[in-house]
Amino acid sequence: MLVGEAPGKNEDLQGEPFVGAAGRLLDELLAEIGIAREGVYIANVLKCWPPGNRDPRPAEIDACKGYLREQIRLIAPDVVVTLGAFASRLLLGVETGVTRLRGRRYDWWLGAALVPTFHPSAALRGGERVKDQIREDLALVSDILASPKEAPPGAGGPTEGGLAEGGAPRQESLFE
Ligand code: URA
Repeated sequence: MLVGEAPGKNEDLQGEPFVGAAGRLLDELLAEIGIAREGVYIANVLKCWPPGNRDPRPAEIDACKGYLREQIRLIAPDVVVTLGAFASRLLLGVETGVTRLRGRRYDWWLGAALVPTFHPSAALRGGERVKDQIREDLALVSDILASPKEAPPGAGGPTEGGLAEGGAPRQESLFE
């Protein structure tokens, strides 16, 4: 399962996630680890387009997060990849930037592993270096999917998900 930030204008109109250039890059990077778009469930932190592509506002995140939580519960993914700062911070319940959060897996909720990475739009702006960092993170996903699950579903509390040591104070979380 992938969790992005919010639909763009075209995604909102079409009712599909990641229909533009960022989506094409995402598809390419997933294909490199042998995963097709049809093999992943994509959700977003916000369920509607923030006009002008502005950042999600706290009240909007708050209004949408119950839906995201239920999507995750229903899909029961083995791995959740958070794309960019908004999804990574919300699901881990920290204020730490994605640059510091990425590069490792977190044991998360309902036995799922969480792997934070950059948003593909950041890779469109940041070039090969950012793409390579996303590749490193997706390699972790490959490893997780290839290995047997360590903990049964339901193990661990929703907020005990192996948050970054030394992470900043908790901010708004998916569970509060
Ligand atoms: N960016 C996102 O974060 N989600 C989408 O669905 C499209 C673009």
